[in-house]
Amino acid sequence: MKPLAQTAANMPGSGIREIVHLALTMPDVIRLEVGEPNFPTPAHIVEAAHEAANSGFTKYGPSGGLSSLRELLAERVTRINGYPVEMAQVNVSVGGVQGILAAFSAVLDPGDEVLIPDPAWPNYEMAILLREAVPVHYPLYIEQGFVPRPEDIEPLITERAKLLILNSPSNPTGAVFPRETIAGLVALAQRHDLYLLSDEVYDELVFEGEHVSPALYDPERTIAIYAFSKTYAMTGWRVGYVVANETISKTITKIQEPMISCVASPVQKAAEAALTGPQDCIRDMRDSYRERRDAVVALLKDEGYYVYTPRGAFYIMVDVSDAGVDSRQFALNLLEQCRVAVAPGTAFGYLGDHFVRISLATEKGLLLEGIHRLCEFVKHEAKRR
Ligand code: PLP
Repeated sequence: MKPLAQTAANMPGSGIREIVHLALTMPDVIRLEVGEPNFPTPAHIVEAAHEAANSGFTKYGPSGGLSSLRELLAERVTRINGYPVEMAQVNVSVGGVQGILAAFSAVLDPGDEVLIPDPAWPNYEMAILLREAVPVHYPLYIEQGFVPRPEDIEPLITERAKLLILNSPSNPTGAVFPRETIAGLVALAQRHDLYLLSDEVYDELVFEGEHVSPALYDPERTIAIYAFSKTYAMTGWRVGYVVANETISKTITKIQEPMISCVASPVQKAAEAALTGPQDCIRDMRDSYRERRDAVVALLKDEGYYVYTPRGAFYIMVDVSDAGVDSRQFALNLLEQCRVAVAPGTAFGYLGDHFVRISLATEKGLLLEGIHRLCEFVKHEAKRR
């Protein structure tokens, strides 16, 4: 038989999934590797999907999403993110993941360069490679609190550069970029005529500071990605949305047809219920993550492994370089010997190698026990060296 597509072969697998799949084969593992809220989807949201399906709302919908949902989303972004959005600028997607792929498909040709953070959530690189575009990594330094600096990015920009990816609050670092940083990065994009893909799926998970979208400064060149997964504990429902200027938006609507046809109709009704129902679930979950963040920071200080405090999302990077192996090997050893699953920094880029990522979206007792075991393991390994 003829070989499969080279593009698919060239795309690396996710380094987080490798640990997830192994962890699933072992008993009694403390799971700190997945970025998934440990809260159930609020009951009124589940009920809305149930009702929609029961009443026969089970047919295809428009490829850009139900108008009723897109109206609500435009209103939500205008209110929460602070820039005016019309329904025509919104496409509903299968989670943030598929919104990103649709946005890349609208903007990128093979060979175009995309500036992506290092460390970054691994799916950007995978999706860029699927588009046969070229990822160019820009550094995020712990000394700068993992906040990007235009002067580190500018020298990497060539004639082929087309898109700059920003992710605040950030996965995997939990950094929240200050307003002046966002303004500086928008100015950089304007100087080099780059599109901005702003991944804002953690926009409502900020503990300190404020969430600032680059669309406040330049809505024309910003493609913003949002999702219900983290905000409403709806990871498995697979619903998100993309906000962009009308020209990009129309192109994405066209692309949605061959990619997904449309998002499941009852799921869109659940999303509407999430937006129109009580919003205290967001505050309650955020308060829990903040409380866990504080407890984890205190524990890391006690154990001597504190390096920084994340200000949003629900992740913290822990430096495990004392153990003397690369972070992938460290994560495999920790899982095997201590039954704690963490995401290796190698999954997020080159600069993440010293670190592992811990998800705070785990019950507090288990989270602290897992981190305690991790610190003991690093000390044990450091002694053996
Ligand atoms: N963007 C970031 C930074 C993420 O961490 C995730 C999920 O982990 C997503 C986008 C996609 O989320 P979903 O497809 O579940 O909406």
